[in-house]
Amino acid sequence: MTRIAIVEDEADIASVVQDYLRHAGYETTHFTDGRSALEAIVAAPPDLTLLDVMLPRMDGIEVLRRAREHTAHPIIMLTARIEEVDRLLGLELGADDYVCKPFSPRELVARVRAVLRRTAGPASGSPGAPGSTADGAGDAPGLVLDDVHWRASLEGTPLNLTRREFGLLQVLSRHPGRIFSRARLLELAYDDTVDVTERAIDSHVKNLRRKLGAAAPEHDWIRSVYGVGFAWEAPVPA
Ligand code: CA
Repeated sequence: MTRIAIVEDEADIASVVQDYLRHAGYETTHFTDGRSALEAIVAAPPDLTLLDVMLPRMDGIEVLRRAREHTAHPIIMLTARIEEVDRLLGLELGADDYVCKPFSPRELVARVRAVLRRTAGPASGSPGAPGSTADGAGDAPGLVLDDVHWRASLEGTPLNLTRREFGLLQVLSRHPGRIFSRARLLELAYDDTVDVTERAIDSHVKNLRRKLGAAAPEHDWIRSVYGVGFAWEAPVPA
C-alpha cells in the first residue's frame, strides 16, 4: 500500500486530508510538528510526504532541506499564500510540487496521484534509463533537442521554434514536473532579457504549447500553475 506522510499542525486540515487520502486508497501517517516528522521520514521514507511550510519546532523549509540530504522521495509543499510559492521556488529546495491553501481536498488527491505517477518511473538505481524523470536525465521521451542549432522535434515532427520558444522548451522539458515561475524562466531561458516582460513569456509559452500540441495532440505538455508559473508534464509511459 502506498504510504503518505502528512505534516500539518492544523488539526482540521490534517483530518480532512487524511480522510480523502484514505478514501482514495492510501495509507497515511500524521505529524503535527517539523522535528518529529523529519526524524520519521528520514528513518523510513514514505512513498510521498505532504509538508506544510508553517510548522512548530521546525518549519517545513528546514524539514525539506534536511530531508533532501537523506531521501529523494516525492514531497509536496503546502503553502499558505501564493506569493510564498515564488519565494520557495527561488530557493530551489527540491520539492516536487506546491499546493496553496485553501485547497480542495479533491484537487490535492489529484496532485498526489500525479506526483506519484510522475516519480514512479524506473528505480533510482538506474539513472538515465529511458523514461526517467530525474532532473538532468535528458530529453523527454519523443522529444529531441539540438542545443547547437536550436532545433527540436517531437515524435519525429520538427517543431520549428523561435529561439525564445526553444529556450523555454529546454528549461521546462529537462526538469519534468518542476514548477518554474516566470521570473525564474526569464533568468534561465532568456540570454537577453532587456526587452522581455513576464507577460511576454506567457505568449511564448502559448506558442510553444500550440506547436507541441500540433506535433503530438494526445498530450498536454505544459501545465500552467495558476498565479505561479509553468511545469513540463511528461506523458505517463505506456
Ligand atoms: Ca501550519
